[in-house]
Amino acid sequence: MQTLTNRAKPVDRRPMTFMEKMYIPAIAKGMGITLKHLFQRKATVSFPEKKRQFSPVFRGLHVLNRDEEGRERCTACGLCAVACPAEAITMEAAERKPGEEHLYREEKYAARYEINMLRCIFCGFCEEACPKDAVYMSETFAPAMYERKGFIYGKQDLLIPNPKTSSGK
Ligand code: SF4
Ligand code: SF4
Repeated sequence: MQTLTNRAKPVDRRPMTFMEKMYIPAIAKGMGITLKHLFQRKATVSFPEKKRQFSPVFRGLHVLNRDEEGRERCTACGLCAVACPAEAITMEAAERKPGEEHLYREEKYAARYEINMLRCIFCGFCEEACPKDAVYMSETFAPAMYERKGFIYGKQDLLIPNPKTSSGK
């Protein structure tokens, strides 16, 4: 029968020799390969004891930024959510009340801000779309979890500590 390609290889159907029946050459060859790999540089990293250095352009978990006075920068304009191709960002806007000027920089703020890290493709469009320098991507990544809901990061997970109080408030 004519083959479609010339990649077919004929099968060696000669009877096995005595040494081949003992499998000694094959075992020795296999052991040699194992020994060779023992002294080679490992392709894997013993995480979490050892960590690989991130690339300078690595985009990790998001962070919600504050200004130098510790006020939340986000004004809940929604541009990051509109720019997000994965529809991973949701938020609810609220009006700043008198006396809250030390908490929120703008008259409107995000009462709820959530990013679903299972949807996120870490493209960085939200960071680029933000006119208030409020969201940016850090050099950390989401830890492994057993439940999906743990990957929905709320404001309490995203906001950086207040530089004035060193707390999340
Ligand atoms: S990094 Fe991309 S996918 Fe993730 S939340 Fe931002 S815009 Fe959406
Ligand atoms: S993070 Fe930036 S783009 Fe997103 S809602 Fe807040 S201010 Fe607007």
